[in-house]
Amino acid sequence: MLKKIHLKLTILCTGATGMIFLVMSLLYLYVSEKNMTQSYLASFQNDLYHISNTLLDTEVISPRYLSAAEKQGNYMLSIEDNGSPLLYGTNAGNFRQQKRLSLLDEAKKQYDTISDGTETVLDSKKPYEQPSIPTYRLILSDGHTYYFSSLSLAKEYGFLHICALCDTASLKTSIQRQRLLFLSIGTGVLVVLYLFFYGLTKHLLKPVQENQKKQIEFVASASHELRTPLSVIFSCINLLADSNHSEHPRLLGIMRQEGDTMKRLIDEMLLLAGTDNHTFSLEKTEVELDTLVLNCAEAFEMMAREKGLTLSAGLPESVLAPCLCDETRIKQVLSILLHNAISYTPKGGSITLSLSHTGTVFEIRVVDTGIGILDADKKRIFERFYRTDKSRSQKEHFGLGLSIASEIIKAHKGSIRVIDTPKGGSTFVFTLPAPKPH
Ligand code: ADP
Repeated sequence: MLKKIHLKLTILCTGATGMIFLVMSLLYLYVSEKNMTQSYLASFQNDLYHISNTLLDTEVISPRYLSAAEKQGNYMLSIEDNGSPLLYGTNAGNFRQQKRLSLLDEAKKQYDTISDGTETVLDSKKPYEQPSIPTYRLILSDGHTYYFSSLSLAKEYGFLHICALCDTASLKTSIQRQRLLFLSIGTGVLVVLYLFFYGLTKHLLKPVQENQKKQIEFVASASHELRTPLSVIFSCINLLADSNHSEHPRLLGIMRQEGDTMKRLIDEMLLLAGTDNHTFSLEKTEVELDTLVLNCAEAFEMMAREKGLTLSAGLPESVLAPCLCDETRIKQVLSILLHNAISYTPKGGSITLSLSHTGTVFEIRVVDTGIGILDADKKRIFERFYRTDKSRSQKEHFGLGLSIASEIIKAHKGSIRVIDTPKGGSTFVFTLPAPKPH
């Protein structure tokens, strides 16, 4: 599921940025190709103007000059002196020249059909100014596109008529080369974008993936915890049908007990779900923490004594300012910690509950001399359903107590941790924010 989302996000991000890149590239290509075409045309018109001016100034027209001019710009020129064609470089055996002449003829015929008949005339006697030479775009029989211009030069003895044909094949090649370059750059950019977004979305989805994994583990653990009391209830129901009346109160008692276990587990899971989706709220009041600590110690003293443990409370001598907290929830935290301390401390051990106040926080410690917690487990005991000894599955221990305590303390903007008791055992320390001194 997440793999599909990852792939979809990668494709979406690559597609979106690739689209922007494509639009910008197409715009650039359009402008660039337009400029290339314009400058190609301008260069043809300029060259033609300069050739015309040279021919206007010279008395004798040199075929070598015309051949050189043609070669330089890749043009084909046709000149008529007072109506008679001026031939140069023509060689009946030369196929290129034959082709050149036939293309010029073809271009002239096409020009005659599309031009409006007005002729551009250059006159050496008139002041020097560059006329705009009309240029036509013709597609000739060889399939190439050509620029074609025709103009007359007014000489003293008459008119010199020039036609110029320019093959745009080199322009087309440059444009195609530029398009190919952009295509390869574009493909490269798309590959880089895909790899970049693949890594980025993978990184962004990591917390979601971890969360999903935790949820799956949570559901699996919850189902496992619920299955045990449920199967006990079902076997009691089966027994109820077959057993005599005297057995019924005992079976009903077991069913009630298992039902209570399930209810407690569901309540604890609902509380954690509330902290997860932020529907869990605190009812804060000003609480005298020393009184609360004493009351809790008193409440658990009997339970500790029954297990052969001593439970004492240590309070500061000075009067403490009240703590703004949810009394019921803090009592719940203390119950979890004291209950654990009693459960995990063997007979003869001691448990101490103490309260102190440093500058910015109240600190409460639950110190036991019990079995202690390994360093590797210390990092994990606040995780949901985590028990250091998996084989120990007492009904009152689901492995949720410390995660609930941690969520409650977090909601109070306090902290909770576990350290070793110096002579063996565990010490749970939690803090609550203290009011700022005036
Ligand atoms: P549980 O309901 O199983 O006690 P908790 O979340 O309260 O669940 O505790 C998680 C685990 O941490 C326990 O299973 C136990 O292994 C360990 N633990 C908690 N408190 C103590 C303690 N005071 N001494 C030793 N181990 C403890």
